[in-house]
This record gives sequence, structure tokens and C-alpha cells, in this order.
Amino acid sequence: MAMGSLFPLHPISTAAGAAASDRLLFLPPLPTPDLAEPSAGIDVGNRKLLRDLSTFGIGGACSFFIEAIRPAHLISAARLARSRSLPLLILGRGSNCLFSDRGFDGLVVLNRSSIDETVEVVGPGRVRVGSGYPFNRLGVRTAVEGWGGLEFAGGIPGTVGGAAFMNAGANGQETAEVVESVEVVNREGEVRVLGKEDLRFGYRWSSLQEMDDLAAILTVTFRLRPAPTARNRQREFLER
Ligand SMILES: Cc1cc2nc3c(=O)[nH]c(=O)nc-3n(C[C@H](O)[C@H](O)[C@H](O)COP(=O)(O)OP(=O)(O)OC[C@H]3O[C@@H](n4cnc5c(N)ncnc54)[C@H](O)[C@@H]3O)c2cc1C
Repeated sequence: MAMGSLFPLHPISTAAGAAASDRLLFLPPLPTPDLAEPSAGIDVGNRKLLRDLSTFGIGGACSFFIEAIRPAHLISAARLARSRSLPLLILGRGSNCLFSDRGFDGLVVLNRSSIDETVEVVGPGRVRVGSGYPFNRLGVRTAVEGWGGLEFAGGIPGTVGGAAFMNAGANGQETAEVVESVEVVNREGEVRVLGKEDLRFGYRWSSLQEMDDLAAILTVTFRLRPAPTARNRQREFLER
């Protein structure tokens, strides 16, 4: 796996009160208040192991855990985290995260969803996609349907949200080239739409990474171009 400068990782190490040498078996006790709220529309579990959620297979437990199936669940999670003053972490495929063995003393939301209903065609070549949707599946679907711009995505094992967050790219293409806008929810639970110009994309970077009040990316709208040979081009990329 080619990591390092090509795909800058997001190290996440925020557990409070644990010595650097702590290992999984010696986790400090974490608070376990009952957070489940019917109004949130989501089930909250406790102490999920982060190593099970990331490609590296490393990481201690989080205090609270939610699985988001639809963008609306992310809004509920943001509001729940706010109402309980919990640190919040949104995780896609975990293919660009490195967790500490000390874990995360807060709420982790696993945002992986293969629900095709979260992909909505909003115009010719324009598609609005839930952030938990697999980026590689989106790349293949759009290429098969003759739309160009996301051919490179066919080989990237992340989610749509993760790709926008870090401007994923490969084979001379990058996410920024085809993003039209991104819908986000902030830590107050308020939803707004950011245009491409607000995102100030750079190499494996977007302004989302420094947005202090960002809770979660909800959807990404892409603008693609007609490309009858997109699938062939994608196959060539995948064979490299
Ligand atoms: C085998 C392999 C091949 C790879 N090839 C490439 C490649 O060719 N090109 C490339 O650019 N990268 C590549 N990567 C890196 C990785 O797949 C990409 O960076 C991908 O975009 C990460 O998406 P993810 O959903 O896994 O994000 P995660 O690893 O889950 O999260 C990464 C960061 O994004 C944040 N985030 C994710 N989703 C959201 C959301 N909805 N709202 C707010 N924040 C969010 C997380 O909090 C975290 O800080 C590769 C990784 C692997 C393991």
C-alpha cells in the first residue's frame, strides 16, 4: 500500500488520560452514560474497537458508536454529540486513518452506506451522492453510464465523503475537478451548502480539513462530462 506523501494520513489520537504505552488490554475506564435517545433516530452503542474500522487494523476503543446509513443520521449524530458535549469523529472506510491504541473518548460515526437511493441524478451529468456511498462504486457506475471525471475513483477504497475531505486522486485526475458543491452539517446541527470555491481544494487537501465547526459532510454533488470511452479508460487505470 503506497502511503506517506501521496496519501497524507489523518492520525487520530485524542483519548484523555492514558499513558503513551497503554495498549488495548489496559484501556482506562471510559464513562458510559446511556446516550440512546429515541428522538435521535439512531442507536448508540458503546466501546467499538477502532481497529475493526480502519484499513491499518490498529486502534483502541471509542466510548460511543453509531452506524449512519443515510445522511440524515449524520445530522442526528451531530446534534446528539452537541447535546452531550461529546467529541465527534466521522469515519468512512477508514482507509486514510491511523488510530491510537488509546482509543477515542467520544462518539464515532461509521458512515458506510451502499444504499443506491443516496445517489440522485439532479441533471445531465450532475449527481448528488450521500457521503457514505463507496467512491469506487460511484466511479464504476458513472463510467459505465458514459460519464467522465471519476474514472480514477474505481480504484479508491474510500467513501464519497472521505474523497471530498482529502481531495482523493489518481492517474492524473482528482476529486476537486468534478465537485460542484458539498452539503455539510456543523456542530450546532445546522446544514449548509458549500460551493467549490469555498472548498479551496489543493493536493490531497480541502478547506474542510481546517473547518473547526464541521461535524460531517452529508452529500457531494458532482458535475461530470459526457465520455463514451470512460469505462475503457477506467479499465486501463485499474490494470496499471
Ligand atoms: C489500498 C489503498 C489505496 C489507496 N489509493 C488511493 C489513491 O489512489 N488516491 C488517493 O487519493 N487515496 C488513496 N488511498 C487513501 C484513501 O482511500 C483515500 O484518502 C480515501 O478518500 C479516504 O476515504 P475514507 O472514506 O476511507 O476516509 P476515512 O479514512 O474514513 O477518513 C479520512 C478523513 O476524512 C474524514 N471524513 C471521512 N468522511 C467524512 C465525512 N462524511 N464528513 C466529515 N469528515 C469525513 C475523517 O474524519 C478523516 O479525518 C488509498 C488507500 C488504500 C488503503
